Amino acid sequence: MFYGQTDLSEIPSLSGKESQSLLAVGIQTVANLLNHFPKRYEDRRQFDRFPNQATAKPVCLTGGVIDATTKGFGKTRFYEAIIMDGDGGVFGSGKITCRWFNMPFMSKVVAAGHQVIAYGKVKEQGGRLIIDHPEIEIIREDEDETETIHLNRIVPIYKNISGINQRRLREIIHTVAADCIRHADDNPLPFPYPVANTNRTSDLLETHFPISLESAHTARRRFALEDFFTLQLNVVWQRNQYLAHQGRILGKKTTLLKAFYHSLPFDLTNAQKRSIKEIIADMRSPRPMNRLLQGDVGSGKTFVALASMLLAIDSGADAALMAPTQILAEQHYLTFRKWLEPLGINIVLRTAAHKKDTQAESSTDLSAEASAKEDHCSLITRHSSEAKIIIGTHALLYDPTLFTDLGLVVIDEQHKFGVVQRAKLIEQGTLPDVLVMTATPIPRSLTMTIYGDLDVSLLDEKPAGRGKIITALRNKPKQKDITDFVKAQLKEGRQAYLVYPLVEESDSVKAESAITAFAKWQKRLGAENVGLIHGKLRPEEKEAVMDDFRSGKTKALVATTVIEVGVDVPNANLMIIHHAERFGLAQIHQLRGRIGRGEHKSYCILLTDSKLPESIEKLSVLEKTADGFEIAEADLRLRGPGDILGTAQSGLSDLRFADFITDTELIREARALADNVFKTDPDLTASHSNLRLLIRESDAPQGAH
Ligand code: ADP
Ligand code: MG
Repeated sequence: MFYGQTDLSEIPSLSGKESQSLLAVGIQTVANLLNHFPKRYEDRRQFDRFPNQATAKPVCLTGGVIDATTKGFGKTRFYEAIIMDGDGGVFGSGKITCRWFNMPFMSKVVAAGHQVIAYGKVKEQGGRLIIDHPEIEIIREDEDETETIHLNRIVPIYKNISGINQRRLREIIHTVAADCIRHADDNPLPFPYPVANTNRTSDLLETHFPISLESAHTARRRFALEDFFTLQLNVVWQRNQYLAHQGRILGKKTTLLKAFYHSLPFDLTNAQKRSIKEIIADMRSPRPMNRLLQGDVGSGKTFVALASMLLAIDSGADAALMAPTQILAEQHYLTFRKWLEPLGINIVLRTAAHKKDTQAESSTDLSAEASAKEDHCSLITRHSSEAKIIIGTHALLYDPTLFTDLGLVVIDEQHKFGVVQRAKLIEQGTLPDVLVMTATPIPRSLTMTIYGDLDVSLLDEKPAGRGKIITALRNKPKQKDITDFVKAQLKEGRQAYLVYPLVEESDSVKAESAITAFAKWQKRLGAENVGLIHGKLRPEEKEAVMDDFRSGKTKALVATTVIEVGVDVPNANLMIIHHAERFGLAQIHQLRGRIGRGEHKSYCILLTDSKLPESIEKLSVLEKTADGFEIAEADLRLRGPGDILGTAQSGLSDLRFADFITDTELIREARALADNVFKTDPDLTASHSNLRLLIRESDAPQGAH
C-alpha cells in the first residue's frame, strides 16, 4: 500500500480527537492532509515594521501584548489586545491594537505578557492604529532559537480547521511530510500522469515548508498544472463525446442570408464576416457545431446570430435563441422582428410571460393563431411545416416539445448557462448545432478553462460610427451638479439611465435604493419624465416601463442591474452609476454598454462615497480603458475567478490554485498534455485507463451512446 493512503487515525503522533477534526473537513488520509496546501506564507525571518498609518495590504508584525481586555457592551462587545513592538517604537508608532468582535473565547487565547505574531490590514480609527480580526499566533516561551517549524523561516499558513490551531496543524503536517520522505521508495502520493519532470514528493514538501518564496511558487505551479490538467482532460473528453455524435448538415442554401445581407443599411465588420464563415463551415459539416462567439458589448454578436439562424431556416430546420433574462429575450425579439420580418420569417417569442399573449402581439406573422387559445405546444405544431425562429428564456431548455425539428440553438450566455445546460440539450435526444454567445470578454486562460470544449470565433472589432463614451469617476459629488448635468442632457433631447445597486432599502447595506431614488428623481425632473425598473416588477410591468423609455415617453430611467444586458436605446447617452464600488468591474462594463449606441457623445459617471484605496483603484480601471478584455483581466486579478463566473457553474470553485488562473502558458501546457493523452488513447481504455478516474461523469453529456 502507498504511504499516501494511510489513514490518519493510524499515525501515532495524532490524537484521536485531531484525526476526527480533520475527518470532519474531509481529510482522512496522508495524501488528503498533504493536499491541504497553505493558503499563504509568512516570512518569519523578517517581520514587517509597525506602520505609522493605515495599510492597503496586510502586514505581519511581531511583538509583546502589553494589555488585553474585553470592552464595549451588548452587540458591540469586543476583545482588545495591544501589541508593542519589540524595539520600543524606535521605528514607527510601535503600538497596534488588535480587536475581535463577538469572539469571547479570544480572551482565553491571547493575554498580556504573550509574545505574538499578528497578521492583518491596519486601519486608523480615533487616532489609533487597529487591526480588526487579525490572524494571531502565540509564540511559546520555550520556543527554541533553533526551532525551524514556526519561526526563523518561511512559515505556511493554512485555512483554519475547527479543533486544531494553526501551530498544531503545522506540526502535524510537518511530521507527516517528514514521514513521507522516509517512505519515498513507496511512491507516497502518486498522480496518475506525470505532468512535470521534477520529483513530486519534493515539490510537495517545498509547497508546505519552502526554502524561499520563489521555490514555493515553482512547486505550487506543479500542482496547479496537475489541477489544470485534470480540468482540461475533462474538457477535451467532453468535447470528444459531443463530436462523436452525428450532426445535421445545414447551411447549404444561402438565399435568406444573402437577402438579409443586402437588406442591412451597413456593411458587416470583417470580424462578423469571418465569424459567419466559420459558422457556415461548422454547420455544413456532419459534426455538430459547438462554437463560442466571443465579443465585447456592442461588437455585433446579434447580427452573427441572425445570420446563422437564417442559414438553419433556409435548410428547413428551426432555430432557437435562448436569453438569460426576459428583458433580453424581448429585446432580441424586437430586433429580430425588425430585421427579419421584411424577409417573411416566422418568429415566436416564448417566455414565462408570453405563454399566451405572444399570438396577439405578433398577430401579423402569426395571424392564424391570433384568436387561438392553445398553449405553445399546439402553436408549434401548427407551424411544423414551416421553419421558424423561437426566442425565449432558458426555460426553453426544459420544454422538449419545442425541439421537434431544432437545427440550431443560439445561447446568449452572459455566464448564466453552463456546461450542464449545454449537456441538457443533448439529453433531449436531439443534436442541434450550438452557438454560445458571451458578451463579457473573459481572459484567454479562462476561455480555455470554461469553454475549452468549444471552438471560438472572436469579434475583436467594433462597428464603425459609434458614439464615444467618456467615463468619469466622481468621489462624493454634489447632488446639484449631478442633477444639472442630467437636466442639460435631457434638454438636448437625450435620455439617461440612473443606476442603483439595490431595489429597496436594506438594513445590512448602506446604499440608496432604486425605489427611494425614484421618488427623488421624480421631484428633480418631473414625475412624468422618470421611469423605474427593477427585478421585482412583474414581467408585463417591466415591459411597459421599457416601452415608455424606448419610445422616449420617459426621459430618465431609474434602474438596477436588470438593464445590464441587451437593452438597446440608442438615444440614451448618459448613465450615472450610484455606489459604483458595489458593482463588479465586468458588471459596470456591461452596464456601460447600454450607452454609446447612437451617434451622440455618451457619458458614464461612476459615483462613489468610498474612501477605500482598493475601490478607487478598481473603479479607475474603467476610466482608463473601454477594452473588455483588459477589464476582465483586472477583474480577475482583483476578485478571483469564483466571483466572476459564479462558482456554482464554473467548476472552478474547487481550484486550489486560483492564483495561477491567469497563467495562460500553464493552461496551454495542461491542454497540450490532455490532447496528447487522447491522441494515444481516445477512450481512455488502453495505456491511459488510469486517467478514467479523473473524468467527472456528472458533467459529461448523458445519453451519448
Ligand atoms: P452585441 O450583441 O455584441 O452587444 P449588437 O449585435 O446588439 O451587439 O450590436 C450593437 C449595435 O451595433 C446594434 O445597435 C447594431 O444595430 C449595431 N451594429 C451591429 N453590427 C454593425 C455593423 N457591422 N455596422 C454598424 N452597426 C452595427
Ligand atoms: Mg446583444
